[in-house]
Amino acid sequence: MNANMKSKKLPLYVQILIGLFLGLCWGVASSWLQFPAFITTEFIKPFGTVFVTLLKMIAVPLVLASLIVGVASLHDIRKLSRIGGKTISIYIGTTIIAITIGLTIANVVKPGKRLPESTRQQLMSTYTDKTTTSVSTVEKLKQRPLLQPMIDIFPDNITAAAADNTRMLQVVFFAMIMGVALIKIAPEKRNTLVAFFDALNDAIIQIVDFIMLFAPIGVFALISALIVEIAGDDISQAANLLNGLAWYTACVIVGLFIHAYIFYPILFRSVAKIGYMQFFRAIRAAQLVGFSTSSSNATLPVTMKRCQEGLGIPEEMTSFILPLGATINMDGTSLYQGVAAVFIAQALDIDLSLSDQLMILLTATLASIGSAGVPGAGMVMLVIVLESIQVPSAGIALIVAVDRILDMMRTVVNITGDITVAAVVTATEGKFEPVMVSEEE
Ligand code: ASP
Repeated sequence: MNANMKSKKLPLYVQILIGLFLGLCWGVASSWLQFPAFITTEFIKPFGTVFVTLLKMIAVPLVLASLIVGVASLHDIRKLSRIGGKTISIYIGTTIIAITIGLTIANVVKPGKRLPESTRQQLMSTYTDKTTTSVSTVEKLKQRPLLQPMIDIFPDNITAAAADNTRMLQVVFFAMIMGVALIKIAPEKRNTLVAFFDALNDAIIQIVDFIMLFAPIGVFALISALIVEIAGDDISQAANLLNGLAWYTACVIVGLFIHAYIFYPILFRSVAKIGYMQFFRAIRAAQLVGFSTSSSNATLPVTMKRCQEGLGIPEEMTSFILPLGATINMDGTSLYQGVAAVFIAQALDIDLSLSDQLMILLTATLASIGSAGVPGAGMVMLVIVLESIQVPSAGIALIVAVDRILDMMRTVVNITGDITVAAVVTATEGKFEPVMVSEEE
């Protein structure tokens, strides 16, 4: 064996895949063999929690430092508004296409009509309690002024905003205005501050590397705990329920697949001229972390790193486009909401007119902008979509059983969508850099 081979480490995505696979085996085995659940929830799950916590820990400083440097180095405010306008329009355009795909599949396949009556009753009685939290959260949301999402962009206290991962948009706003201010002040002063944030940014990227060393263990812990929690102590009953929801689950998965693996490639191949395999190879570590954590926000540091190192998208673009995307662009979530709304209406025997379907298109687009990139956010916002078409929100009970699994998949699509738009906008600005580090990570 030569020295070269000895020192060769498995690529990160392979390590994460191994963690995922072993987590799956552990989860299934311990439910099957009826190991006490506390072994997994008390002794294994905490390692997953630590992994997600560490990723969240660096999300705010990363966005702050990289965005300030990114905006300040644009040297031109007109350019910033042009890139901003383009980014937001493409984000909304891709979301509308995602919902259209979801609605089309649900209307053609009619998964709600294929739900066995016995499963419907069982789901309604088992999960109604769990849905009341989402409904009461939405009740609170509904009492807010219509333009509250606009008010929410502006922080009243930047340290309070930075202390709360769900207020990322406020951090983005502050970082942008700080970057613009730096363009305006005297160069010698600007350079000091830009150099400071630049160094901070490099240090944080280094911390991402440290945290990712822990990724395989974190992913193992997250997946095994998830399976034990879903399966409970009766894995065959869980399997029966999943079986009853197979058509619905398949519709969501097929829709997500079409959007991520057929529609996005059309965009990044034609506009950004990136090859199919090259793109997905470069971003697979980010996709796997998104899948395991179900959170676009927690995955953001990895997404940014892979875009820069794997695709050659410069930091001045990623630092602006990706945090914005993690907060307002959720194609996977909105596609799922389209399918779920139609599925629930069908299962409850409620006919949806064309204008109801257009209403779903509108509210799911807004819900995608309004939902935070955290686990389960999409299901809470689904209540708003259902209410807008007068479908009882208690119908969510029908889909709760499979929501966690679908959340993992839609998060992958959400992240892939952000990266696709980042590539497209970068290409239209002619800003691609040569790929610096391996595509293989
Ligand atoms: N978990 C998703 C995300 O973070 C949001 C959702 O659909 O619940 O992107």
